Amino acid sequence: MSKRIKKGIIASPGIRMGKAIVFRGDEIKIPKYHINEANLEKEIERFNDALNKTKQEIIEIQNKIAEEKFNDLADIFSTHIMALEDPHFIERARRKIRQEQRNAEWVINDISIELINSLSQIDDEYLRERIVDVSDINKRLISNLQQKNKVNLSDINEYSILFASDLTPSETALLNRQYILAFVTDHGGKTSHTAIMARSMDIPAIVGMDDITSYVKNDDYVIVDAIHGEIIINPSQEEIGEYKKYQLELEKIEEELSKLTTLPSVTTDSIEVFLYGNLEIPDEMENIKNHGAHGVGLFRTEFLFLGKNLPDEESQFQEYKKVVEFFNPYPVTIRTLDFGGDKIPGSMKFQREMNPFLGCRSIRFSLRNIEIFKTQLRAILRASAFGKIKIMFPMISNLSELIEAKKITHDVMDELRISGIPFDPDVKLGIMIEVPSAVIAADILAEEADFFSVGTNDLVQYILAVDRSNEKIADIYNPLDISVLRFLKMMADTSHKYSIPISICGEMAGEAKYTMLLLGLGFLELSMSSKNLYLVKNVIRSVSMEECQNFTHHVLSLKKQEEIEQIFNDVVFKKFPDLILK
Ligand code: PEP
Ligand code: MG
Repeated sequence: MSKRIKKGIIASPGIRMGKAIVFRGDEIKIPKYHINEANLEKEIERFNDALNKTKQEIIEIQNKIAEEKFNDLADIFSTHIMALEDPHFIERARRKIRQEQRNAEWVINDISIELINSLSQIDDEYLRERIVDVSDINKRLISNLQQKNKVNLSDINEYSILFASDLTPSETALLNRQYILAFVTDHGGKTSHTAIMARSMDIPAIVGMDDITSYVKNDDYVIVDAIHGEIIINPSQEEIGEYKKYQLELEKIEEELSKLTTLPSVTTDSIEVFLYGNLEIPDEMENIKNHGAHGVGLFRTEFLFLGKNLPDEESQFQEYKKVVEFFNPYPVTIRTLDFGGDKIPGSMKFQREMNPFLGCRSIRFSLRNIEIFKTQLRAILRASAFGKIKIMFPMISNLSELIEAKKITHDVMDELRISGIPFDPDVKLGIMIEVPSAVIAADILAEEADFFSVGTNDLVQYILAVDRSNEKIADIYNPLDISVLRFLKMMADTSHKYSIPISICGEMAGEAKYTMLLLGLGFLELSMSSKNLYLVKNVIRSVSMEECQNFTHHVLSLKKQEEIEQIFNDVVFKKFPDLILK
């Protein structure tokens, strides 16, 4: 019985075991071979069969998606069916097979490339974006011709451990939580949105495992140890037994920690630290409340809309109202859309970019798509009549952006007022601090912002120029880099000087190993995924503010990375030796 253990990046902690299912997504090889005259009609038949099978497959996906109420996404597939029924395409492919005496895969791929090339020359954004549809249909047809053992992610209805080269945040959002026990990918980083989604959906996950998909086969039995970042392929009975015991131990630790739910979040010298939850999918609301959070510090609204058209104002309003009413009287900080980077909306017009994380992302997208922005703001403001809402603009990098975003918000307020639609006129308008320029100019931004929330996931990537989702450079994506710590200190000091409330809502806030450091820097509001709330509260309740300040003072005086790591070992890990903190 073979067994391999590999190290990866823990995206969402937990232990799971089960049968592997390998999703090969994009990797399709196109064979090229000659077809004898005698076999040409057979080849045409093979093409016809693949055409029908692909159509059938798309109809099934479309029905399933419609059942799950993703109607807008289902519409995309109508376009795919129309393309597969296009007589011009069908005739051309059949003719090419006959004339060139080539296999169907090669011919289809050739026609698709030609089509993609001509689409990419067209000066019409909509038509250019059909390239994605053409290549999607191309892939489906070819894999049907090869009768590859394909997996449709949302169709998996057996308990499985999913292995994939990579998963986009929208693919992750469509995973069936009931059956996907865990997932493991070749690529990805700890703060990628796929990893954030996994934590939010409570699916244990390991990412950045290099080429793990070439080691695992469908139906291999595997253990995913997303506590140590390892997997075991075809483990022995003894190993399975050990891991079952370990799972029970972890459940006991969780049970013990759950006693913290109603206990106050105060340090031993009685300083209160406010804890909030990060919300990506509405299902997560109860978990956040059950873990004792006092509201939502970051509602990533774009996750509601990945993989489909943006819903209209009314549907958005209903979603926000549901969340706000659920948490009332605690606040819900709703972040306006943060599309771009690795969060590409399904069927919306979205131009491909060379450097998407440096491109038309986030508030930049909203300010250039005013109608989408205003629709969202109207929905949020209407929901503000039902509880306590704060509005947060993401990725603000200069004062003009903030002034413009605020002006649009005030215009929307005026429109609501004129129509007699109720909203909270005192709603606070704050910003995320996730670009170095915003830290440097924080004193200027303080004149216009009601609050700050530090997005360390992006801030670290922009300070260090390290892509947060790239596993190849994950070792230099370091929140403890002295430059990052200096930026954080500068941010905390400026907000205190100008009396602007400040929180942290990036992943750093939820990692209990950083809690002493963040308290010592002066951050007393932390927002995180529900899973981390107990661990962070446990640290808060075991330390004094003085202790944290001394620790942070010491850390800030160090220059070398190894020294910083050493002091964490000497102080934090000594005080909290539990391995799930690490
Ligand atoms: C961040 O960048 O830290 C943040 C909270 O935003 P997101 O992870 O959604 O980019
Ligand atoms: Mg961000």
